[in-house]
Amino acid sequence: MSTQDKKSQSGSEEINFEKALRPTAWDDYIGQEKVKQHLRLMIDAARARKEPCDHLLFYGQPGLGKTTLAYLIGKEMQTQVRSTSGPALEKPGDIAALLTNLEPHDILFIDEAHRINKLVEEVLYPAMETRTLHLIIGKGPSAKTFSLDLPPFTIVAATTKANLLSSPLRSRFGAIFRLEFYDVKDIEKILTRSAHLLGVEITHEAKKILAETARFTPRTANRLLKRARDYAQLYRKNVIDNTCAEETLKLLDIDEFGLERADRDFLEILIDKFQGGPVGIRALGAALNEEPGTIEDVYEPFLMQIGLLQRTPAGRIATKRAYTHLKKDHKSPLF
Ligand code: ADP
Repeated sequence: MSTQDKKSQSGSEEINFEKALRPTAWDDYIGQEKVKQHLRLMIDAARARKEPCDHLLFYGQPGLGKTTLAYLIGKEMQTQVRSTSGPALEKPGDIAALLTNLEPHDILFIDEAHRINKLVEEVLYPAMETRTLHLIIGKGPSAKTFSLDLPPFTIVAATTKANLLSSPLRSRFGAIFRLEFYDVKDIEKILTRSAHLLGVEITHEAKKILAETARFTPRTANRLLKRARDYAQLYRKNVIDNTCAEETLKLLDIDEFGLERADRDFLEILIDKFQGGPVGIRALGAALNEEPGTIEDVYEPFLMQIGLLQRTPAGRIATKRAYTHLKKDHKSPLF
């Protein structure tokens, strides 16, 4: 089997694994209580009126449960969820084809909504507002506009970058929800459920170790559990215990805060090359050989969440906690 085949096999394995663990009932969707409460209210009201739910936007870090919510809403509203993503919608015809194929009350889930291009957005505005599709066929003076009524439907969009969504698009959603990082207790509950679904036994201590290093993110927690299960299987253990959890983390080069090698490199460069900051994102990006966008999306949210990094108007700063964690001398004049 070629490397490419292996990669795509492990990619589809990962997708199947996610699907298998995805909660399909409100009670299994742990945490995010306020979001759940508000959504249930909206869904119950819409159902009572026999109308589709308002268009919804979820934003927050990857792996926090945005897609899961879209499918849960579909289940609650007893309707189909069709799925696409911002980058897949290249031209107005792409979104038009999806919208005209919707059945009444269907949900259209659009992931990575901040990557929808302007031309596609312009088709979406009237579609979301008045359920009409306006399309221009042809070019120049012979171009023709035609309009089509669409069935009642709901757009559920998800993004990691709500600030990049244009304000006309944002204003067309009936409700906007921010998904927060999870607390460790909730991540433990998610691990309990996932272990049960995977048919593996895990001790309380092992669960605690994995939960504390899961970056407050369900997807990461499930992935760590899967790796720990592999480890247990390899060493013929029938239960994931603390040794198994610790060895798995060691193998993955994840420390007790949940930092991976790349996170530690990021902080080390900030401390060693820029005296802990403040430093601008471009200079940091150049030193790390990473795009500023990747730094903002991938590294920073978690490092800020655990208090190792601060974003200030003057630039990024490594906190005292970061120095202590990486066992660096506190040379920064900031503390
Ligand atoms: P996102 O769309 O925000 O990137 P997903 O909805 O795909 O995240 O969630 C990733 C995985 O994490 C899901 O497959 C699911 O198993 C798990 N998950 C997410 N949120 C929850 C939750 N609140 N409770 C239990 N499991 C969750």
